[in-house]
Amino acid sequence: MSAAEGGVARVRDAAGILWVGRGIAVVAGLLLVAFPLLSDDQYYQNMVILSLVFAVAATGLSIITGLTGYVSLGQGAFVGLGGYTVGVLATHHPDTSVWVWVPVAGLVAAAVALALGLVSLRTRGPAFVIITVAFLFLVQVVAINWRSVSGGTEGLSLPLPTWSADIANWPFYYSLVGLLALQLLLSWWIRRTKLGTGLVAIREDETKAATIGVNLPVEKMIAFVASTVLVGMAGGVYGYYLTFIDPRGMFNILLSVETMLALLVGGKATLWGPVLGAFIVEPLNEYTNNNLGGGNARLLLFGGLLVVIVLFLPQGVLPAVESLLTRLRTRGRAGLVGARIGTGGGISSLTGHLSLVDRPTGEASPPPLLEVKDLRKSFGGLRAVDGVHLTVPEGSITGLIGPNGSGKTTLFNLIDDTIRADSGEIWLGGERIDGLPSWSRAHRGLGRTFQITRLFREMTVLENVVAAQRSFSWGQLGRIAVSGAEARAAEELLEYVGMRAFRDQRANDLSYGQQKLVELAQVLMLDPRLILLDEPAGGINPVLIDRMSEMIRELNSYGKTFLIVEHNMPFVLGLCDPVHVLGHGRTMASGTPDEVQADPAVLDAYLGEDFVPEPRDPVAPENPSMGEEVRRP
Ligand code: ADP
Ligand code: MG
Repeated sequence: MSAAEGGVARVRDAAGILWVGRGIAVVAGLLLVAFPLLSDDQYYQNMVILSLVFAVAATGLSIITGLTGYVSLGQGAFVGLGGYTVGVLATHHPDTSVWVWVPVAGLVAAAVALALGLVSLRTRGPAFVIITVAFLFLVQVVAINWRSVSGGTEGLSLPLPTWSADIANWPFYYSLVGLLALQLLLSWWIRRTKLGTGLVAIREDETKAATIGVNLPVEKMIAFVASTVLVGMAGGVYGYYLTFIDPRGMFNILLSVETMLALLVGGKATLWGPVLGAFIVEPLNEYTNNNLGGGNARLLLFGGLLVVIVLFLPQGVLPAVESLLTRLRTRGRAGLVGARIGTGGGISSLTGHLSLVDRPTGEASPPPLLEVKDLRKSFGGLRAVDGVHLTVPEGSITGLIGPNGSGKTTLFNLIDDTIRADSGEIWLGGERIDGLPSWSRAHRGLGRTFQITRLFREMTVLENVVAAQRSFSWGQLGRIAVSGAEARAAEELLEYVGMRAFRDQRANDLSYGQQKLVELAQVLMLDPRLILLDEPAGGINPVLIDRMSEMIRELNSYGKTFLIVEHNMPFVLGLCDPVHVLGHGRTMASGTPDEVQADPAVLDAYLGEDFVPEPRDPVAPENPSMGEEVRRP
């Protein structure tokens, strides 16, 4: 089967599974809506109502935890806050309908999430988890001690429902169904937008996401608020349903644990997984409470489930079923294994998407596009970059060479703020940028590839390219990610680098050379003025190396400026002018390739006695590289 057919079959399979999933979701939704009409059983109605509360909480949590990768154990606090908002307001305004306060509960949850996010979203990983737990306990302590408002440990009694006893649970039931529908809609929509792609990028590699223009604080904050608003409202309905709330019940950490468990059981990165998980975990929880005495049995249940998930279904139930179906349907098919890198499209197709200009020729001394002045960075006692001065003239292909460990990658990291410099100045196009965060530097025209490619491994090739955000605007965040002019630009960039046949392939499945090409397309999507390439020819085959230098030359002839770190000497010396040489974190020499090759200090420190300048020795290996080991920068 050809690559294209394989790709089409794969897409068809995915669509087939999607439709099966949608069918099941519709049936489950209808059953859910019809249930109170079909059965009067209070026990089961109660069970479904509680499951609905957890389903809203877990679906909300999937935005910040599943999509964005920030594990929050404070989700239960937003249910509690919602309950308390409604409880407090309802007891103080006995004449107003309790339902009025439910949207207010959502606003309170959002405001608290905003405040908490300002602090907690500056941290990552375990620190974030701990802050969310601390937050949960903090809210509980406040609820216990602020007696005049919250009623302290005695709790609050809410007004009893005023409607007919015949339909006792219906309003609670259907308002929760409505909130779940809204939460699912919100999650579904966020996933499809540029915001959603940015969030996945943050989950996969936050530092890298910033270098391609993703505004980290804004996008994380939106995710955090979006994961709590409707949860606060559901908490309000939940409080009204319970008619009695107290701090130990509403802010019990087990609520957060159960929410997290629902997310993990169902599948944290899926839309419906959290709902499925909630309807598995909460009934089990009810069962252990009623039939096995609760308490320790409940803890055993939670712990046991967690172990089962970690050991057997690390992705959750839904993704496991999905991959099983995919495997059954694609058995014996080759997929894209036979696909080849294309020969690359012409650059003219890119003119609509990139600002490509004919380079002004004959300019004797073009202005510097990048200027680095006395830049310094130490790691403990090691001065990795020790006072570097460097200029990259506009329109040039500037080379940066130097022995392993001389600070080239670190210098790139400082220029794009992957690591903040200790001191020094960085000027881009006449503007000082060293105080700016990564994404602002990207928006000002700085693009950068990594020595060890850093694609978002769980995204497809096309999504990786589309993930780049050329500028920041609120409107852009809400736009559908893979559509319109953006998607066209991404496809054409992929065509240009020869990777269009792989557009629906997961980045994880690409070879190293292919990843380099996709990363180049991704960076070009930013339409950068200056492109930093960290060893573009490292670890790829000779044909690709030739194609790489051809593309660099071509893009350069259309006005793109390059700064290139590379160990492959023929590649650098054939392409770059001027060349800077770095040694021990300092600029050792700068000049034309000829000047640098003749510099005795450079020969001594770097090129060595074995180095044979042009013409090349016919028996020398095809691509003499300095043999740097592959390691993360
Ligand atoms: P090059 O790219 O020129 O091979 P690097 O910039 O990667 O060199 O590294 C320069 C020096 O700084 C090396 O000694 C390296 O071990 C050290 N270094 C780089 N990054 C870090 C880091 N994040 N923490 C500590 N040391 C680092
Ligand atoms: Mg390096």
